[in-house]
Amino acid sequence: MMVPFNNLKAASDELGDQLVSTVERVIKSGWYILGPEVERFEDQFARYLGVRHCVGVASGLDALHLALRAMGIGPGDEVVVPGNTCVPTWLAISQAGALPVVVDPDPATLVLGPERLEEAISERTKALLPVHLYGHPADMTALLELAHRYDLRILEDAAQAHGARWRGLHVGGFGDAAAWSFYPTKNLGALGDGGAVTTNNPEIAQTVRALRNYGESSKYRNEVQGFNSRLDELQAAVLSLKLELLDEWNARRDAIARRYASGLQDGEVELPVVAEGAEHAWHLFVVRSPERDRLQAHLTASGVQTLVHYPIAPYSQAAYPAGSWRGPALPISDRLQNEVLSLPIGPHLSPEQVETVIGSLRAFVPGGGQSASKEE
Ligand SMILES: *Cc1c(COP(=O)(O)O)cnc(C)c1O
Repeated sequence: MMVPFNNLKAASDELGDQLVSTVERVIKSGWYILGPEVERFEDQFARYLGVRHCVGVASGLDALHLALRAMGIGPGDEVVVPGNTCVPTWLAISQAGALPVVVDPDPATLVLGPERLEEAISERTKALLPVHLYGHPADMTALLELAHRYDLRILEDAAQAHGARWRGLHVGGFGDAAAWSFYPTKNLGALGDGGAVTTNNPEIAQTVRALRNYGESSKYRNEVQGFNSRLDELQAAVLSLKLELLDEWNARRDAIARRYASGLQDGEVELPVVAEGAEHAWHLFVVRSPERDRLQAHLTASGVQTLVHYPIAPYSQAAYPAGSWRGPALPISDRLQNEVLSLPIGPHLSPEQVETVIGSLRAFVPGGGQSASKEE
């Protein structure tokens, strides 16, 4: 049996005629950019999260970038960011003109914790940018306390955490703002690109609204030089429809995560850790192995598609040479890029496919068994 990493077609198939009639409704409305569908989705997503404002934008990267600008962050400022995240988290800081200051994550939960933050903070530090990586919420209680103590802003990168909660509350309303991506593979995914900024701060919301549309505060009145980062009506309508299913689809992810955890009890791999107070959204189910590359090859050979999130940390990328960021040695992030492996997880993975993944993992011979026998 083949186990693909994602199955986006199955998601669209489950929605079936509803998806088609939603798209048709937008086509027939004759209104395609920033209209009633975008307003409706912004309203619904804000209500779902329990946050005051939601502003739809064109992507997760734009959501991060525009939120940083709306928080007043620019050249000369530093933003503290984890070493183990995807490149767009860093790009947003660079696009705002600020400097990424990198720290290692908590070695168990793999998200930004308070431990290593204090030594990273300087007079130039303006904000913390925790990433709710893989769907695991960062310890927002500790981060808020630290941000308060050092007078810092917090921008949550919630692009992998639709539906995740910290101490019973949805992520996305803890910081000064949060950035969301609706890239098709995310837990709440559009049929194309999309993103949003959520915030309880009306000034940040208003500034992002202007920045996404050339910097217009009202029609043809430009207070600032803005961008074109608008969410379109088609994507917003699809997102409203899919938001109704988010909790149910996340529950299916949770059931798969539980089955993986119970089926992989014999030390085959290091399993993801869920902190007390965290409700994981299971965007990704990431295991760790010192023999990651051999394990991935073994799984591929048995038809199980896996991915690595992420094989090259931003600070190791050619796009981020010395001088374009600041930070200490990063032994945890360094190790993670060689050890992490994402198993298939999603609302449309069948129980048989889940068992195939578990069986294939359990059949892996650790300790270089295959290559050792070749040498004999
Ligand atoms: C997907 C993602 C982004 C970027 O979102 P896009 O919509 O692709 O621009 C940023 N941060 C994280 C953690 C992501 O997973």
